[in-house]
Amino acid sequence: MEIEVRKLNARKQYKGSFSFGYAPPADCCLIPLCSVDGEVKVSGSYEIEEDGRVFVDLTVVYTITGKCSYCLSPARKEIVFTTEILYDVTEKDVSDSDDDHYIYDGVKIDLRTAVDDAILISQPNILLCREGCKGIDVSN
Ligand SMILES: [Zn+2]
Repeated sequence: MEIEVRKLNARKQYKGSFSFGYAPPADCCLIPLCSVDGEVKVSGSYEIEEDGRVFVDLTVVYTITGKCSYCLSPARKEIVFTTEILYDVTEKDVSDSDDDHYIYDGVKIDLRTAVDDAILISQPNILLCREGCKGIDVSN
């Protein structure tokens, strides 16, 4: 889950793509009674600038399974989320940087933090068994 920036620079591979599976931490799903099912598929592309900045297009695909937040029936949902990230070698202008801005040491980028963040950001607040679930029917 690393982009070896210095090695890639030495090989003049300033652009490329990556793809791997990631076993997410057990507590990465914030929806009650739900969890991430299996591996998270991580893919994307990178572009290394001359000044050391690296632009990364990151896509995470994963499935949430668990109980419907309204009626407790089994539920599952596939999440596909893409984000653009800038990795910079120095800390500067943090005041106007946004969340998709990370610092790395100029040698290699560890994508783990960004992937964990993407999993958190992309999660819905609730998981439903079907569109428009009205919850447990208490009328009878
Ligand atoms: Zn439901």
